[in-house]
Amino acid sequence: MGKYTLGIAGNPNCGKTTMFNALTGARQHVANWPGVTVEKKIGVIKSGEDTIDLVDLPGTYSLTAYTQEELVARNFLVEERPEVVIDVMNADALERNLYLAVQIMELGVPLVLGLNMMDEVRKSGKNIDSEKLATLSGCKVVETVARNGKGTSALLGAALDLAKEKRGEWNPLNITYGPDLDPVLDEMEKLIEANGFLTDKVPARWTGIKYLERDEDVIIKGRMADSDLSSTLETMAREVAAHTQKTLNAQPDALIADHRYGFIAGMIKDVVSYPVLDADRISRSDQMDKVLTHTLLGPLIMLGIVYVIYQVTFSVGAIPMGWLESLFGWMGDSVSAALPEGHLRSLLVSGIIDGVGGVLGFVPLIMFMFLMISALEDSGYIARMAYMLDRVFKIFGLHGTSVLPFIVSGGIAGGCAVPGVMATRTLRSPKEKLATIFVAPYMTCGAKVPVFLMLAAAFFPENSAAVMLMITLGAWVMALLVARALRSTVIRGASTPFVMELPPYRMPTLNGVLIHTWERTWEYAKKAGTIILGISILIWAMMTFPQLPQERLDAYDALRAPIVTHLEALDENAPESVRAPLEEQLAAVDNALAEESIHHTAAGRIGTALEPVTMLAGFNWRTNIALTGGFAAKEVIVSTLATAYSLGEIDVEDTDTLAQKLVNDATFSKASAIALIIFTMLYAPCFVTVVTMARESSWSWAAYSVVGSTTLAFGLAVLAYNVTKALS
Ligand code: GDP
Ligand code: MG
Repeated sequence: MGKYTLGIAGNPNCGKTTMFNALTGARQHVANWPGVTVEKKIGVIKSGEDTIDLVDLPGTYSLTAYTQEELVARNFLVEERPEVVIDVMNADALERNLYLAVQIMELGVPLVLGLNMMDEVRKSGKNIDSEKLATLSGCKVVETVARNGKGTSALLGAALDLAKEKRGEWNPLNITYGPDLDPVLDEMEKLIEANGFLTDKVPARWTGIKYLERDEDVIIKGRMADSDLSSTLETMAREVAAHTQKTLNAQPDALIADHRYGFIAGMIKDVVSYPVLDADRISRSDQMDKVLTHTLLGPLIMLGIVYVIYQVTFSVGAIPMGWLESLFGWMGDSVSAALPEGHLRSLLVSGIIDGVGGVLGFVPLIMFMFLMISALEDSGYIARMAYMLDRVFKIFGLHGTSVLPFIVSGGIAGGCAVPGVMATRTLRSPKEKLATIFVAPYMTCGAKVPVFLMLAAAFFPENSAAVMLMITLGAWVMALLVARALRSTVIRGASTPFVMELPPYRMPTLNGVLIHTWERTWEYAKKAGTIILGISILIWAMMTFPQLPQERLDAYDALRAPIVTHLEALDENAPESVRAPLEEQLAAVDNALAEESIHHTAAGRIGTALEPVTMLAGFNWRTNIALTGGFAAKEVIVSTLATAYSLGEIDVEDTDTLAQKLVNDATFSKASAIALIIFTMLYAPCFVTVVTMARESSWSWAAYSVVGSTTLAFGLAVLAYNVTKALS
């Protein structure tokens, strides 16, 4: 009878969560890892007399101190010393998955390898000799298919047996790191052993490796434990680094990684075999790739596919969009009819219904866009896009994997920069990662789509689909150019070679596509319901208060009164030539009142104060308010414009859409629209993205990007405005 703690580790997407659920069923609870927002799931399993706490570690590719997830996973192993770790691996990508396993072996925690996704391996026609792998790695190996529960209890059984056998004893794996590093590492190991430096927690050799890798987390802990010894180790690491740089043109961490891969490659060679006879699916995939990734045809087909996505989105999505627009129009009318004129009615109609309705109206479009993107993603085509684009990306100092953050951020329009910036975690090179973080928010995220759609529909009604395509491509061009500029100046350095896995094509399942579409659409709608509702109300208040002082209102009343009296006194069938000038006079007074009232509000004052500068780019004060609100969330740009134009509208029809109002506004031209598109594309990302950027890099890098991008955006907007004006 005993109580055991087992950790369950693995790369992202290896089936870890599926495995965890299969093993623990409903008996799990969720907490947070101390000090971070990463979720910690624990499941309790009873097995005969034994109680097992199964802890789900964050999905990671490595155990460096590079990301929060890696640190959490590593600190759990070191601090909580689980009896055994189960490493769930995607056996279909064994080489990459072994990279994490080898690092756990280097630490020495007793390890069981779960070869998951064996169904995929069999389908691909590959053969994996798991007994051989057990011999070579010294770990127990169990084949599983987590999705249908095959082998999962055998995996748990093997882990429990190992826990009982080892009783907390660790046996670190020693890999050779080459003739330059090995002697230094031996020397470090002796020093560390002799001084008992951190040895209560981790093997001496492991600490030495971390000093060679310049692992900040370990070095800081080392300095606190024994600053003299730590500085000796740091000096040793620095000296050997200078040496390897000179002789091999590489830093120790790169050499260590190379030798780990070498070790893995050696195992793979004996463990994985490919039958000569290829499965039909693979050869069909290869046939398809001959066309789809063809040097000339490939990019053309890619452009064509992106264009079709737009066409379908516009033509099919426009139908339900019309329904929603009428629904919100009807709601506005009903509320207007039911409530007396006043602040409440204005808040409900101009603030809430117009603001949120303007954003929710785009839900059908976004849904259709996601439907097609999800299908492409699930089919394996997006991986091909990344593969093709890598050739281009290298030229701009980026990495092939940068494509993923770009696409997630809205590279095919409709993504979100928040997960996009988070997706940069898969980039191994820090410089390429910084550049990608900086420019990924240029992409057309779901929140910018409504802005572009509205402007395109208003000012380019005949070619709005083509304009949207140009905007999407323009975002890519700008992202690449700015990345190139960054990689030639502030973040100079060589690029990392790129290997991309191209899994065979797969028919997407309707269910999978629908779930992905639903998740993304719901995320968008939820944001509209919460953050945007709050901001809409705030902005409405800023655009309503403070109100004109009573004496000004009285003054306008004094102007109106005689005209109204005159009009009322007119005979039923007074000629139009008498009535019309009077009505015009009255409208002019009302117009002046509306104008003065809105200028008097907080928002009007801010927008007006900025106008002298922003008019260089053709932005009037209404646009200024919208763009300022857009920093809170880009969706707000449309809703704020809608609110700004629905208050104080005198000379336009009530039934006009925002697009028509913009076209009719004399202070907002086609040149302004083009400048606004460019500015919206490039200026500061929304504050949620900025916070994410800071978390993935640093606050100073996030601040640098906000200031840099906004400056660039304004510069280009001014240029575009003046060029368009000069040409038209
Ligand atoms: P995690 O990111 O490691 O937690 O991975 P998940 O548990 O979320 O699984 C990722 C995807 O792989 C899901 O679509 C699972 O249904 C699928 N999956 C998990 N295990 C298997 C397996 O053994 N075979 C196959 N074919 N798919 C699996
Ligand atoms: Mg998971």
